Amino acid sequence: MDIDVSKISLSGKYQATYNNKIIEVGKFPKNRGQMITIALDNLIARDGAKCRKCFETRFLSIEHIVPEWILKQLFVSLEELYIDLDNLEILCRFCNQAKSGQLDFSNPKTKIILLKYINKI
Ligand SMILES: [Zn+2]
Repeated sequence: MDIDVSKISLSGKYQATYNNKIIEVGKFPKNRGQMITIALDNLIARDGAKCRKCFETRFLSIEHIVPEWILKQLFVSLEELYIDLDNLEILCRFCNQAKSGQLDFSNPKTKIILLKYINKI
């Protein structure tokens, strides 16, 4: 797969390109690039390079089904945020912004994943 992760200097966000499509992957320290690349590789293999909600193939981003800010309160490590593929999916920028870091219970995975992490406490 033709995936490359690089940093966008102005915003501090990383982006990956896949078949010349840009996929934003959020803000990370540089050493997380490899982890993000592996996660992205697996997500694309599982779901395809498209938005889960609207099937858009441009402006894609990695989305946490249970948002990072909630996982941090549940003592989930930064590393685990990109290892647990169950909690990751690809959304386009627009669907990601609409979700705006909230829990989306219209996605049946949300409750299952949230309970999984709560049970680890
Ligand atoms: Zn979308």
